[in-house]
Amino acid sequence: MAFIEVKNLKKVYKLGNEKVYALRKIDLEIKKGEICCILGTSGSGKSTLLNMLAGLEKPTKGDIFINGTNIAKLSEKKLARFRQENTGFVFQSYNLINQYNAIENVGMPLMFKGTNRVKRDKESAKMLRLVGLGDRMKHRPNQMSGGQQQRVGIARAFVAKPNVVFADEPTGNLDTRTTDDVMRLMVKMCRKYGITLVLVTHDLEIADYADRIVHIIDGEITGIEDHVSAYVPEDDTGDTPSEKEKIEIGQNREDKTNEPL
Ligand code: ADP
Ligand code: MG
Repeated sequence: MAFIEVKNLKKVYKLGNEKVYALRKIDLEIKKGEICCILGTSGSGKSTLLNMLAGLEKPTKGDIFINGTNIAKLSEKKLARFRQENTGFVFQSYNLINQYNAIENVGMPLMFKGTNRVKRDKESAKMLRLVGLGDRMKHRPNQMSGGQQQRVGIARAFVAKPNVVFADEPTGNLDTRTTDDVMRLMVKMCRKYGITLVLVTHDLEIADYADRIVHIIDGEITGIEDHVSAYVPEDDTGDTPSEKEKIEIGQNREDKTNEPL
């Protein structure tokens, strides 16, 4: 079974007497560790689908298996617990708590899990350093730029090392350069910890970071394509040779074989 399996998913909203068919019939599989981008124009049903995958909304019909658990059938209490233990979320508008500083915001998922303050702060500080905000730990959201706030949002989404992170237009409020920084950071975190990423966007450039692109139009999937992610983060564990070292090794060999006899 795939890590995420969506079967015959439907969502109908009722607005007075009118029915809005937000998702018509969605079938989808997402592999563990994959960066999956759901691409579609405004109103195509992206947020509806993502909210359902993340367990924030209940489908009208259908099943959503994550790691073998059908979250569409869980009680509210079990679902809340499942979300805490398995998922992280990155929002377009960051959704940070204004009264809390960066380190406290990042630590929220750990607090819900019952991790003590000392351990929480230690983990949160590590994550903030990984997203390049080691010097902004005591800053509050309104004392940071949009890009910095989203990096705090990313640190928060990954701090508890969830199985899967969901992101809804994570770069929607950012300029082009900051968008690239934020995307690279998310890919880096996913690859480092083997985390699956499901992100939705209307932006073709964002899809370039994905391993797979799912096209959605009017609540229906119209195509799924494999894709080579535009960005390969450098391995910073020190276990494998760097690109520079690899090139040097390769060149040495070539030099020898090319030597005149
Ligand atoms: P996207 O994220 O791709 O812009 P959405 O998933 O937000 O699209 O919306 C898909 C469709 O469902 C739209 O037509 C939207 O108007 C409708 N919709 C979304 N949420 C609701 C709701 N709570 N009540 C009624 N209609 C909704
Ligand atoms: Mg949306």
